[in-house]
Amino acid sequence: MAAGSEYCQSLTAYSRRPTTQVRVGDLWMGSDYPIRVQSMTTIDTMDTLGSVEQSIRMIEAGCELVRITAPSVKEAQNLDNIRKELNRRGYRTPICADIHFTPNAAELAARLVEKVRINPGNYADKKRFEIVDYTEAAYQAEIERIREKFVPLVRICKEYGTAMRIGTNHGSLSDRIMSRYGDTPIGMVESALEFLRICEDEHFTNIVISMKSSNPQVMVEAYRLLVKKLKDENLQPYPLHLGVTEAGEGEDGRVKSAMGIGTLLEDGLGDTVRVSLTEDPEFEIPVARTLVDRYAERAATAQPIEALTTSPINPFAYTRRITAEVENFGGKNVPRVIADFSTQEINNPADLQPIGHFYLPATDKWAMNDLGADYLYTGSRSVPFMLPNGLKELIDYPIWRTLGEQAHKFPVFTTTEYLTSIQEQQAFPFLHVVRLSLDDCEGDLLGYLQEDPYAVLLVETTNSHAMPELRRLFFKLIQQRINLPVVIQWSQGQTTADATTLYAATDCGGLLVDGLGDGLMLKPSVENPGQQSKFLNSLAFGILQAARTRMSKTEYISCPSCGRTLFDLQDTTAQIRQRTDHLKGIKIGIMGCIVNGPGEMADADYGYVGMGVNKIALYRGQQVVKRSVPADRALDELIELMREDGVWREPEAALLA
Ligand code: SF4
Repeated sequence: MAAGSEYCQSLTAYSRRPTTQVRVGDLWMGSDYPIRVQSMTTIDTMDTLGSVEQSIRMIEAGCELVRITAPSVKEAQNLDNIRKELNRRGYRTPICADIHFTPNAAELAARLVEKVRINPGNYADKKRFEIVDYTEAAYQAEIERIREKFVPLVRICKEYGTAMRIGTNHGSLSDRIMSRYGDTPIGMVESALEFLRICEDEHFTNIVISMKSSNPQVMVEAYRLLVKKLKDENLQPYPLHLGVTEAGEGEDGRVKSAMGIGTLLEDGLGDTVRVSLTEDPEFEIPVARTLVDRYAERAATAQPIEALTTSPINPFAYTRRITAEVENFGGKNVPRVIADFSTQEINNPADLQPIGHFYLPATDKWAMNDLGADYLYTGSRSVPFMLPNGLKELIDYPIWRTLGEQAHKFPVFTTTEYLTSIQEQQAFPFLHVVRLSLDDCEGDLLGYLQEDPYAVLLVETTNSHAMPELRRLFFKLIQQRINLPVVIQWSQGQTTADATTLYAATDCGGLLVDGLGDGLMLKPSVENPGQQSKFLNSLAFGILQAARTRMSKTEYISCPSCGRTLFDLQDTTAQIRQRTDHLKGIKIGIMGCIVNGPGEMADADYGYVGMGVNKIALYRGQQVVKRSVPADRALDELIELMREDGVWREPEAALLA
């Protein structure tokens, strides 16, 4: 690995991490092959035809590996029927059995299908939520107990040529791991390594590893740490299966997935991808494909970026870059959202509605919702009315100077304009924004910026390797001890909403998960300047929320559902959203089953978990507080629970929703 990186080939030049190659039936995975796209069925595994037809829809959409849950031996056995029917219809796509808690189902499935996924948090352990103070001898005895339970599966996989995924989930670590490491990235890594060492002792290496979490930041740190630990312990460089669990649906699910998966792909990590959305699995495939396809030509098209000798940040633990406070940027302020109106007319107050600021003519008052932008960038024009709700305006310097100094209007300089003004001894003792790219960082500029307490930097790039170039720019600022707040301008000009969502979340999110960035400005595409302000504003807030740097809406941690789900998860999620999406900052877990759901919803404040046909369990944090609530009353009871806790509030007027 190049200097400056402990977990990837290079922090500046794109290249895939070299891995072992894994065979899954006729499908190969690893760095010699394209990044594979996979998904999981949501139909009951005992419904053979339903599973076959859903698998075919997934395969036709581009799915290269179909995962199917096998909660017990009877489902594991039925995988054989599903697979035979798929073969009969001409589909040879490999199948992966998803196993939790049931070694005997795994041992059967490993004889029938091409891959088994085991969860090291529950393969040999039942969760009792106990914290035990293990002596070293007692811990080793536990490892020996795992070995006894796990070796038979390993030997079957070896004999049958079956691949294995050791799939750690942040939300379902064993009591043993929790006791020693807590629910931390290092705990996740150690959870996989306990099983991996046994595999290597048995000379079994046809393995892929995953480190999933519903929190992209935790997930990114865990994968990076895994790569480092594999290397440190001289274990094989196994391929990585990337995924963000319980990402949810719609824009939120896409943003979270891209932030976790995309951030790692940018650094060349990841050999297969599953995007977990609370949507039909065939809809996950184009999302995964859009994420992955971006890297097919990356190495060939990227502009070279100045190499790094050392990285000034710790990639394994989040710390926000320390900055000065300028106006309300940086310091301890939440990252700011700047709405870019430079390419569209803005003539009256109604034009601000898409960015969360509302004029109410009946009362002649202004209001704003939780997605109210903080700044307006108007480029070469100025807003002809007074801005409401503390909204401030940023204007290109040549126009700003014709207006004279005005409260709430601040100049934006190009680097040339900034240098000229400084050299002419002009002073700007108030907020001013300076555009900056990596190429600009030469000559006297950085010296002037070091001495300027009022500047906020607006960083930008046109390089297709955008995130690493901007990260390199942040590193340069840190190394030069320039602690000015930095706003990330994203302007990769995608043509579809999905691509914009996924790529903006990757590029901006990849910086935010490392604590880099004090604001976002997402630029409309040139082809479509006007229509996007509401979409881009919501996307900017969504990215900040997914990075957990600014909570502005309710967060839903919903599982993608699978054969264990006993209710319509999509429909239920939509109903819960409709009643609760005004509860800013509250995290609600919506889980299909009580076997894995409570663990998987990790740090949710409340949980809505299926526990039987039409029976729901309601959780406060990790604590179940109501069991067997009839499904038609469960949402009302959940709201009642929030009311008791004093966190419920009535939705605001429809206009502001
Ligand atoms: S939590 Fe959801 S996806 Fe996970 S096993 Fe249960 S029903 Fe399936």
